[in-house]
Amino acid sequence: MFRRRRIRRLRPVRRRRLGGQRPPAPEPVRNAMRLFEQGKFDKAADAFDNLAQEAEEKGRLVQAAHLTAQAARCYLQLDDVDAANERGMKALGLFKQAERPGAARRMGERMARALKDRGRRAEAEALERELKELPAPSRPGMRRGELPGKCPQCGGPVKESEATWVGPSSAECPYCGSVVKAE
Ligand SMILES: [Zn+2]
Repeated sequence: MFRRRRIRRLRPVRRRRLGGQRPPAPEPVRNAMRLFEQGKFDKAADAFDNLAQEAEEKGRLVQAAHLTAQAARCYLQLDDVDAANERGMKALGLFKQAERPGAARRMGERMARALKDRGRRAEAEALERELKELPAPSRPGMRRGELPGKCPQCGGPVKESEATWVGPSSAECPYCGSVVKAE
């Protein structure tokens, strides 16, 4: 499209990341997403746990948070509510550290509902208390085009509200760090 090409020509130089850190390869994330889709939740949980830890060690907190939340989803599927709750709380902390209160709230609300559904009222209420402490989310910025629903590299669900915009029409995948182009 004309508009997209023009924007590309205006910004020929790729943005350099702080610290020169390259994004991780998307393949391991794609594999984990695939395991989840295939219903292999135990393997997917391990994969997401490992990827989250790696991301955290590299200081990529947003990715670490989203990957930890994916691990929590796996444990819910496995009915391991303790492990899911632990990952949920961990993801909440990472989202807070990464200053993403909006994503923290959405994840936390989903987790609280899941806990209640499984009769874990005390844990759900503890989580809801944590959510009340979160700062109010800032107003979403200017709309910068429509993102594809899934990352073309890893297949992870990309939500516009949780995207990190890295250019006028490109955002970073919250799972694998690939640049996703808006349309
Ligand atoms: Zn991705």
